[in-house]
Amino acid sequence: MTSEQESVQEIVTPRYTLNEEQEKKEIIRQYRALLRSLRPKLKKGDKELVRHAFEMAAEAHKTMRRKSGEPYILHPIAVAQICIEEIGLGVRSTICALLHDTVEDTDITLEDIEREFGTEIAKIVDGLTKIANVIDNNTSQQAENFKKILLTLTDDPRVILIKLADRLHNMRTLDSMKREKQLKISSETVWVYAPLAHRMGLYSIKTELEDLSMKYMEPEAYRDIARKLAETKRERTRYINEFIKPLKEKLTAGEFDFEIYGRPKSIHSIWNKIKKKGVTFEEVYDLFAIRIILNSPPEKEKEDCWKVYSLITDEYNPSPERLRDWLSNPKSNGYEALHTTVMGPQGKWVEVQIRTKRMNEIAEKGLAAHYKYKEGTGEEDRFDKWFGQIREVLATPTTDGIDFLQDFKTSFLAEEIYVYTPKGEVKMLPTGSTALDFAFAIHSAIGTKCIGAKVHHKLVPISHKLRSGDQVEIITSHKQKPSEDWLSIVVTAKAKNKIKDALREEKRKIADDGKYILQRKIEGMGAAFTPGNIEEIVHFYKLPSQLDLLYKIAIKSIDLKELKDFHVLGDRLEPPKPKPVVIEHNHAADNHQKTIPKKDSELIIFGESSDKIMYTLAKCCNPIPGDDVFGFVSTGKGLIIHRTNCPNAAQLLANYGHRIVKTKWAKNKEISFLTGLKIVGLDDVGVIHKITHIISGEMKINIAALTIESSEGLFQGSVKVYVHDKEELEELVQRLKSLQGIQTVDRFDAEENK
Ligand code: MN
Repeated sequence: MTSEQESVQEIVTPRYTLNEEQEKKEIIRQYRALLRSLRPKLKKGDKELVRHAFEMAAEAHKTMRRKSGEPYILHPIAVAQICIEEIGLGVRSTICALLHDTVEDTDITLEDIEREFGTEIAKIVDGLTKIANVIDNNTSQQAENFKKILLTLTDDPRVILIKLADRLHNMRTLDSMKREKQLKISSETVWVYAPLAHRMGLYSIKTELEDLSMKYMEPEAYRDIARKLAETKRERTRYINEFIKPLKEKLTAGEFDFEIYGRPKSIHSIWNKIKKKGVTFEEVYDLFAIRIILNSPPEKEKEDCWKVYSLITDEYNPSPERLRDWLSNPKSNGYEALHTTVMGPQGKWVEVQIRTKRMNEIAEKGLAAHYKYKEGTGEEDRFDKWFGQIREVLATPTTDGIDFLQDFKTSFLAEEIYVYTPKGEVKMLPTGSTALDFAFAIHSAIGTKCIGAKVHHKLVPISHKLRSGDQVEIITSHKQKPSEDWLSIVVTAKAKNKIKDALREEKRKIADDGKYILQRKIEGMGAAFTPGNIEEIVHFYKLPSQLDLLYKIAIKSIDLKELKDFHVLGDRLEPPKPKPVVIEHNHAADNHQKTIPKKDSELIIFGESSDKIMYTLAKCCNPIPGDDVFGFVSTGKGLIIHRTNCPNAAQLLANYGHRIVKTKWAKNKEISFLTGLKIVGLDDVGVIHKITHIISGEMKINIAALTIESSEGLFQGSVKVYVHDKEELEELVQRLKSLQGIQTVDRFDAEENK
């Protein structure tokens, strides 16, 4: 029983220096370790099968090496090891993991695998191969790829679990990749894979994926927090021991079979808190959580957890708002536990998580552990339900992959709330769901007729955001029909798709009237109402489709006056010759965009060559020279430069990889950039003078704006300055910090109204 289990790990890939003989030994050593982990699960004949898969993969990858220089086969072995140890998968998944890259990268075909290992394994490997295929293809969009992953996921969840193991190992060994590859893979990981791991109930994998991504995307913040965590460890351990001591005594006296320890929160989650709440590391109160794991028989699990809750709250006072009962209503990723936050010694809030061994295994191994406990209970499976919902959404064809990914994230990967129907039936909905989402969750016929709802008997509009525990009654009217703005009210993919369907249907009905008007018009001109002639008109008005033309005619946004300029040749219509158009030159960005080489975009150095390449600095993150940046080729605005730690970076890198251009700053002392600093300190006479003296007097930096507010002896100032690069900014920050009475100096993005 350790007081604090460290989750912080620094992964270093050693430079590869083994000779051939040593390499062979290393491969065998890793393979043996794999077999050892698998031993408890091996049935008769399994060992031979695993060996066969290993030999086949080793032979196929024989000449290949990873970026780090090590033999390729070590990767599939490591992925298989993760599948067994960290996800809890069995023999068949191990075989698939060993073979997962063979069809993609070697001469082995799916037929070979099916012949040697049967259909079940061939199908999974096929799923993994398809994924590899689309992911490695730079030109197609990540979102489309992800859609394909999901299609295979619903066939056999093991595909996604092995894929997550693959991604985890790639993240653990990302050091040897090039910087921009690291950024792209990391963004994809936080954007899609970590939420997916979370949704699969794989908490520790999710956490590690997030921490590793952060290590590459936010190296400074990552190292900073890791260092502070290490520095404060001793102090924290002392506190945890003090906190735990009376609880241990009580639990022992109560004859519980238990384990109790403190666990640091992940670097990524601490960082999120710092960002979201605008606090410093020292002010984050929950740097760790206390975990109590009980060894209880199945029939006493819930009772024991509550008994322990009662013991804890006898000792420490709980915060009533922070009780989370996932015993009665487990999350739909299977998570069960009782969380409470209590007032510990020295007036500090401490989160305590109470769960049983079984619940703990589910919390750590998610889906796989869940299946293990479910076997033979006949209980309805949450995952099955979830897969069913995904399948339903995938069945509806959507046009835009990015839209799909966004919808998927908000409706399937978000945290959930549970709401009740008037009869007391529970519905799980993603956080942010509205009354309208709920109506569609019940039935699409109810959704399309929804005019409002009653939450706890109180009337609310359809846009009302629901909260856990709400009891909702939907009010419908047969006169109601969906409108365009409904799309912005709902968050679930199901509701979105149903609304789009209804809108399309409505448009088609209206377009029928337009068809009649158009027919009369064309025939009145002496031409024929043929698809060819209609197409000419669609083209003339620059519309995307016939449906749009007919619809616009019906709602009178096109009056067909221009048809009088058409020529009638026999029964054919011919559009008038286009008038000469004056080309305007105000779209400078569009022209400059062409100067960006499309393929193999080399390093773009701007600053010096800014006259050649048109670029703008993103408003969302206001980069300045020295910041780690990338370029995004936008439609219309040319190249936009973002900081790699911009709030929008992950989304852009993950979805539009092909539009990202490597960029680096060139030294240029002529141009300066607007940025902002927030200064907090003790209010003292002359503080403004001291600050301005440093900025404009000592450092000769131009001030764009300066505001100071003070109250109760403290002042808060915000100053906007023009700096040349990050170095200069850092020096300024250092000098300001060294002023007496100044507590913090932080950068903020100058365009924001802070
Ligand atoms: Mn792989």
